[in-house]
Amino acid sequence: MQLRSLESAPAARRVFVRADLNVPLQDDEVRDDTRIRASLRTIRHLTAQGSAVVVGSHLGRPRGQVQEGLGLAPVARRLSELLGAPVRFAPGLPTGEGACEQWKLLGRGEVLLLDNLRFDPRETDDDPDFAQELAQFGDIFVEDAFGVVHRAHASTHAICDLLPSYAGFLVQREVAALDHLAEVGESPFVLVLGGAKITDKIGVIERLASHAQEVLVGGALANTFLQARGVPIGRSLSESGGLDVARGLMRQFSDRFRLPTDVVVSHAMTEPGRTAAVDEVQSDEMILDIGPATRKAYRAAILPARRLFWNGPMGLYEQAPFAEGTLDVAKSVAECEGYTVIGGGDSAAAVAAAGVDDRVSYVSTGGGASLEYLEGRRLPGLACLVAK
Ligand code: ADP
Ligand code: MG
Repeated sequence: MQLRSLESAPAARRVFVRADLNVPLQDDEVRDDTRIRASLRTIRHLTAQGSAVVVGSHLGRPRGQVQEGLGLAPVARRLSELLGAPVRFAPGLPTGEGACEQWKLLGRGEVLLLDNLRFDPRETDDDPDFAQELAQFGDIFVEDAFGVVHRAHASTHAICDLLPSYAGFLVQREVAALDHLAEVGESPFVLVLGGAKITDKIGVIERLASHAQEVLVGGALANTFLQARGVPIGRSLSESGGLDVARGLMRQFSDRFRLPTDVVVSHAMTEPGRTAAVDEVQSDEMILDIGPATRKAYRAAILPARRLFWNGPMGLYEQAPFAEGTLDVAKSVAECEGYTVIGGGDSAAAVAAAGVDDRVSYVSTGGGASLEYLEGRRLPGLACLVAK
């Protein structure tokens, strides 16, 4: 997809940047600054050319009101450390009096971070008046929040009607990585899918499975497929609303669709489990990970891949006894020499936990956005950046 790029933008005096600084916080500190780091290149490029840069982001789900614990003050501090320069900040409403006062003081080459855009209910309503208030901060708009380009919000969509709009470096990089994955014809192309919800992933399976040689399924997603096949899954998490879809997909792609042959089951989510053949799950047990034979089989399919996309952990990986399958897949993906892309917050966290995040080709910062992009859907935050 060809986007109007930041490099092609005229050097502007004032720039409004939409970034995705939705990072996990703990005790008023940033616990993981990956997303802040990912936004630095665009911000530095703009300050270096002498623009006054106003950055906006959401954080969590404050549901349209100022909420303690979801303010961006810790993000402003961390951003300032990483930039090695002061970052102006005013807590409260993102376009409130405090922010406007800071904006008036903002000099060329300086940065102002607005507080949580979702403190204002008009953000998620794609409200043109709120977009107008944001647009006043810049002469041009730079979209760099790939994680939210699938949302039509005031700061990702309505604002594009008001300012000349360009794709920042992160958005360009994400789109290039996903395009490369979908368009470069090398095979085998292997799809590894896990996680919880089938409804989020159907589109990607439908779109990519026809190009893939292997579709390896794990996590709670696999439970839905097993159930659809009539295999008893006990008390396992599954999506009963997705059974018909699961049957349809397995029929359509029966030659490449692979489900676990053995699993780790337990009575409680905290108790270490036992390994069982997939058809031996008791009615009071839950499937919480893929078993050793499945890990081995998936590894054998992953290693020769020329292209690979992985979304969704293979089990309840947050609990140590059920993290093995996910960590094993992460290591296999790291050893694969093909072009490997990880999408999804939990999958990215798992790859980092396995210590192999620097050994995959690309880790996308956007879960839902990367899935919808690969589905080929029209994303409102990108459609308005397409070069004409
Ligand atoms: P991603 O963020 O990578 O897109 P998802 O959000 O779809 O992934 O799914 C991640 C969640 O799915 C994790 O919280 C994980 O614990 C859960 N999960 C995966 N497999 C199972 C399972 N067998 N039982 C219960 N939860 C599971
Ligand atoms: Mg998730």
